[in-house]
Amino acid sequence: MIKSNNPILVSWIPVPENSDFPIQNIPFGIFSSKNSEPHPATRIGNTVVDLSQLADFGFFDRMGLKDLSCFYASVLNPLIANGPQFWSILREKLSQLFNIENDELQGLEEVKKLALFPVNSVEMHMPVEVGDYTDFYSSIEHATNVGKMFRDPDNALLPNWKHIPVGYHGRSSSIVVSGAEIHRPKGQTKADDADAPGFGPTKLFDFELEMAFITGKKTEMGESIPVDKAEEAIFGMVIFNDLSARDIQKWEYVPLGPFLSKNFGSVISPWIVTLEALQPFRVEGPEQEPAVLPYLEYSGEKNIDIKLEVLIKPEAGKESTVCKSNFKYMYWNMAQQLAHQTVNGCNINVGDMYGSGTISGHTPDSYGSMLELSWKGTKPLKLDDGSERKFVLDNDTIIMRAYAEKNGVRVGFGESAVKILPAI
Ligand code: MN
Repeated sequence: MIKSNNPILVSWIPVPENSDFPIQNIPFGIFSSKNSEPHPATRIGNTVVDLSQLADFGFFDRMGLKDLSCFYASVLNPLIANGPQFWSILREKLSQLFNIENDELQGLEEVKKLALFPVNSVEMHMPVEVGDYTDFYSSIEHATNVGKMFRDPDNALLPNWKHIPVGYHGRSSSIVVSGAEIHRPKGQTKADDADAPGFGPTKLFDFELEMAFITGKKTEMGESIPVDKAEEAIFGMVIFNDLSARDIQKWEYVPLGPFLSKNFGSVISPWIVTLEALQPFRVEGPEQEPAVLPYLEYSGEKNIDIKLEVLIKPEAGKESTVCKSNFKYMYWNMAQQLAHQTVNGCNINVGDMYGSGTISGHTPDSYGSMLELSWKGTKPLKLDDGSERKFVLDNDTIIMRAYAEKNGVRVGFGESAVKILPAI
């Protein structure tokens, strides 16, 4: 077992019951306080720990780094670029410093005053500078539902789907961190019975419940990452809400795929949970039939049991759960996705982001988008305040939560929240 994942570890920093951030998590993010610029941080319970302060006091002096500038950067890219061995050493070091049986930091009131912040007193920022962003389409339930609605109920999956982890290159400039407010986008749409397209705010505003992984490796053009090495190139994961305008999407996506219906905003959770912290929650993936091509063949437990939830909070009302799903349903796993992404020699960079695609389960209450939950608007959902939703309304806040739990340890992501404002 990885030492820092040991369920018996306890921190001297208080961890409330059902917190996503016990000592076994140790996620990484970028925060700023009233008096400081954005810096790398980790979180235990409801306490944010400033890693630049710990670096100031010499806690990272003997970890084999040439210089400590990565602990003072405004994004995590330089820290992540140190590679998987370093990620592990750093997590282990922090695990020791926060351990209740260790007095190294626990006993230093002066340092604690400078380095520890209540989570509600800080602002979280984009954890990485995202160079490139890919969105996959890897949930068989989601692809089947969409195929049924938009194409042919009897041949819902296109012939390539079980052979290729289908994906497209998205836009990174509009990926933002939880807490964002995003205006309803405008665009071209065309009703089935209309002769010509019109222009205006989307009427079918939707979310897509996804997880995303972030790469921690730079490759050269021409280089491929084999499936059995792919996980070494993945630093960690976040919740990913891929906001979508279904009416714009329907009119524009033929023949090259989604464009303006998807690139006006995607919202991530602020803390990157490392693949190492998620190790205890691995499970087997679904059987892949027909057999995949050799470059996509994998062995071992490559799926992860992460419980997912989507809630809608109306302007005045309280939040209602509209979907419960699980990351373990993914047909294509992250290692296969990254192997496929690079099999043609496409180069990748530290900080690149890869969305899973909407994660739907088998049952109607586990569908990861309003498109599926309301079945194209034919089955409105009832919220707890009595109002109905076919799609997302102005002033609704969309909240996504995710956590894994096993043997009494809960490792989670916190949340991705975004408020939808009227079109401008
Ligand atoms: Mn998507």
